[in-house]
Amino acid sequence: MNKVALYLQEHVLGEVMANPEIRRYFSTDASVFSVMPSVVLYPRNENDIRKTARFCWQLAERGRVIPITSRGSGTDFGGAAIGSGIVMVFPAHLNRILELDSKSGAVSVEPGINFGKLQEALHTHGRYVPPYPASLEYSTVGGAIANNAAGEKSIKYGSMGQYVHSLKVVLANGEVIRTGRISKREVNKKLGLATFEGEIYRSLDKLFEEHRDIIQENPIKVPRNTAGFNIWDVRKKDGSMDLTPLFIGSQGTLGIITQAELSTEPYNPQTTLVVAYCDDLKTAGEIVHDLNKLPDSPSAVEMVDENLLNFVESQNPNLLEDLLHKPFPKLVLLIEFDELNDRQQKRMVKKTQKILQKYEVSCDVERDIKRQAELWKIRHSASLLFAHVEGNTKAIPVIEDGIVPVERFEEYLKSVYEIFTRNHLNVAVWGHAGSGSLRLQPLLDLSQVGDRQRAFRVMDEYYKMVISLGGSTSGEDNDGRLRAPYLPELYGQDIYGVFEKVKAIFDPYGTLNPGVKVGVTSESVRPLLRNEYSLSSLANHLPRS
Ligand SMILES: Cc1cc2nc3c(=O)[nH]c(=O)nc-3n(C[C@H](O)[C@H](O)[C@H](O)COP(=O)(O)OP(=O)(O)OC[C@H]3O[C@@H](n4cnc5c(N)ncnc54)[C@H](O)[C@@H]3O)c2cc1C
Repeated sequence: MNKVALYLQEHVLGEVMANPEIRRYFSTDASVFSVMPSVVLYPRNENDIRKTARFCWQLAERGRVIPITSRGSGTDFGGAAIGSGIVMVFPAHLNRILELDSKSGAVSVEPGINFGKLQEALHTHGRYVPPYPASLEYSTVGGAIANNAAGEKSIKYGSMGQYVHSLKVVLANGEVIRTGRISKREVNKKLGLATFEGEIYRSLDKLFEEHRDIIQENPIKVPRNTAGFNIWDVRKKDGSMDLTPLFIGSQGTLGIITQAELSTEPYNPQTTLVVAYCDDLKTAGEIVHDLNKLPDSPSAVEMVDENLLNFVESQNPNLLEDLLHKPFPKLVLLIEFDELNDRQQKRMVKKTQKILQKYEVSCDVERDIKRQAELWKIRHSASLLFAHVEGNTKAIPVIEDGIVPVERFEEYLKSVYEIFTRNHLNVAVWGHAGSGSLRLQPLLDLSQVGDRQRAFRVMDEYYKMVISLGGSTSGEDNDGRLRAPYLPELYGQDIYGVFEKVKAIFDPYGTLNPGVKVGVTSESVRPLLRNEYSLSSLANHLPRS
């Protein structure tokens, strides 16, 4: 066991491991990258986290930087849940619901709680957290907050961050703070604190003052955007401040979340599902545009394209047998409504049918919950692509998180198909059509030099295209090592410079998950590319997408 592991073992309650097998397991997440940690720690309580942060801070003061990477279930697609120092694994112990107010629906949780388990508990109280990621059965709430995750319900309910009321966070030096909006008067008190928290408030205050013009408004106008740090929602005109938006989506680079207070919504299982069968992309784009103008938003507008359906049929002809017939439509849209008021729900369905009639698009309307579950298989069949293996060729998550303004949806789809054709790759597209956020994973063999180069070439073409359409490189999966290199191009140097300063304020020695978010270049991540990609660690569950 190395010296760091020995020290930690003597000082924390949780388990400390440094054997090669465990380290190898935690050297990968769901991304295409690999970084070997030196120590794996399963903290038992907040004190363990504080002590570890303090220890790393003190070493860093003397010039030795040992990074800390917080980790939920390691399903991060961008390589943000791996690191070369101490990987701190939360699901083992810090996995409880601490408080649940069934009246207001407010719930307080530890970060390592499985998202699916939290959802089950909330359902028994008629509540849920709507922006759950597709990976909810095998990922944590802490990971969802740190990534500002989103999912099929996000078109109506937004991203995870909108459900985080406040957080408890261990700062880089081991200090613990509680976040939440505080008035100008309380901000003034914080500014006078002789602690690291006080220093953070003072530095942020100065930074926001100096860059007032930049920090007025996020320049990227898309329904969801997790790229960079959320510097726009911290300080309000009335002088109040809230550090919560900075920690949400910061991927463990500004602090370590130890507790979260979440709000929830009423859960209504009695939804209506409209399945629309579109024969051209232009019409699909127009329908999506019209749906976005409905007075009550659908609770989901998901899509799969013809290529995915053909792929699914080639792999498992039974799966779509009772659901769709060949030739498959160019695009299938699944549009769901979940209004609690039944009459209102029916009204929205009628309006949707009218939109579809206008474009002469056929559809099925389903109220029966069992049949709806069957129809959702059309969308969830994308998991077959995730599980697909042809020798060493697999679906590789390198370009799947771009999001564009909804009115550019058709252009976006066309450009995606062009990139795949240009690079001689088969394409299949699915995802959140309603928000302009699609999923696509090329089939590549990372043991082949040609395919490794192709992966980076396709990435470059894809993210540049997304930026040129006024989109964001990350709609939900966040930057990580994969998309961080595109942040300067996405936001421009001025805003990127503010991100760098924010990172330096919270993490002056670079102990908190370095190599993620800022200071990352395409050249610096290339050597981290794995030779073989696998999602086999998720095989207990069907990896939904
Ligand atoms: C098949 C598949 C489908 C997916 N679908 C979606 C989807 O629909 N929507 C979506 O948004 N994402 C999706 N993802 C990505 C990922 O699953 C989610 O973002 C998920 O919320 C991450 O949770 P996790 O517990 O695995 O976090 P991890 O991967 O362990 O960590 C994610 C990030 O959070 C940080 N972190 C974790 N815990 C803490 C903490 N306590 N304090 C500070 N930082 C912390 C980590 O350092 C890392 O940067 C998918 C992934 C897969 C493999």
